[in-house]
Amino acid sequence: MEGRKEFDEKDWQQILDRDSSAQFFYGVATTGVFCRPSCLSRRPLKENVRIFASAAEAQQAGFRACKQCKPEGVLLTNESIVDSMRALLEKNRDRNISLEELGRHVGLSVFSAQKKFKAAMGLSPLEYQHALRARELRSSLKKGKTVTDSIYDAGYNASSQVYQGTNLGMTPARFAAGGRGEVIQHCEEKTKYGWLIVGSTTRGLCWLALAGTKSEAVASLKTEFPAAALKSDESLGTFIRAAIATVEGGKESDLPLDLRGTAFQLRVWNALRRIQRGKTLSYGALAKKMGIPNSTRAVARACATNRVALLVPCHRIVGTDGSLTGYRWGVERKRLLLEAEGA
Ligand SMILES: [Zn+2]
Repeated sequence: MEGRKEFDEKDWQQILDRDSSAQFFYGVATTGVFCRPSCLSRRPLKENVRIFASAAEAQQAGFRACKQCKPEGVLLTNESIVDSMRALLEKNRDRNISLEELGRHVGLSVFSAQKKFKAAMGLSPLEYQHALRARELRSSLKKGKTVTDSIYDAGYNASSQVYQGTNLGMTPARFAAGGRGEVIQHCEEKTKYGWLIVGSTTRGLCWLALAGTKSEAVASLKTEFPAAALKSDESLGTFIRAAIATVEGGKESDLPLDLRGTAFQLRVWNALRRIQRGKTLSYGALAKKMGIPNSTRAVARACATNRVALLVPCHRIVGTDGSLTGYRWGVERKRLLLEAEGA
């Protein structure tokens, strides 16, 4: 099995478009890596591309799975279905998409489409559309439009619907790699847990990290969003204090988050947000709670890529024996955070 060297212009176009609904994988002969067409990595030269119907075939042909789009595994097939449903909802914010239409779009029954979507996103497709509109509403209000204009722009038929929206802070549109074309405002403050940095787009917090020094904190934001324009904004200090309050037992934060990730990562991060202050879970227990007990490693990987410390409380994950295990921002800081939470 060598993969198809000859393929349709349509397949190639799907690769160029990073089309998440594409139902195949492609290998790059020069690198020996295979990807999903939706992968954010650089586009290969067409002549080096080989097409595979399944991840297994690509692996049999000697290709390694890409570390970025992780094309192997069963969950990812579901993931591309969910991505494709999300894309449809995102493109049609001005009208309600029926479950029939959604099901047709991905070739599933109404029931399966709804179930898969909800399992991955934690929201029904209808709730998701409401969340999209609520987010758009927030951002156009910030730009100074009147409430009525904003409501219509956001695709609401009646303003009463506005209040059904949720504050889940997902980033629906395919985001530019590394934050290209975006402005991220940021602020750093010294706290007893180390230097805290918050980064925020107009949609919400996209970065919250801990570091040893102020310059290390800013460098972490630059590394994560290399293509974004960074702007210091001291007023975001309120976000830092709100985040600390979630650890120290103040009011639960309802800050808007701009979480960026695959459907699977978003699902894991939302599950982390449901672990209460003072409680801890192991990766295995979290996977079980999410109804995917065999996906402990994938869950662990998603936790490790969390970009919003404290508010997406990955520090509440410990070893099965209660040991601290690792933490993206240092185990000692994790210990301090759990201590503050009385865990
Ligand atoms: Zn890839």
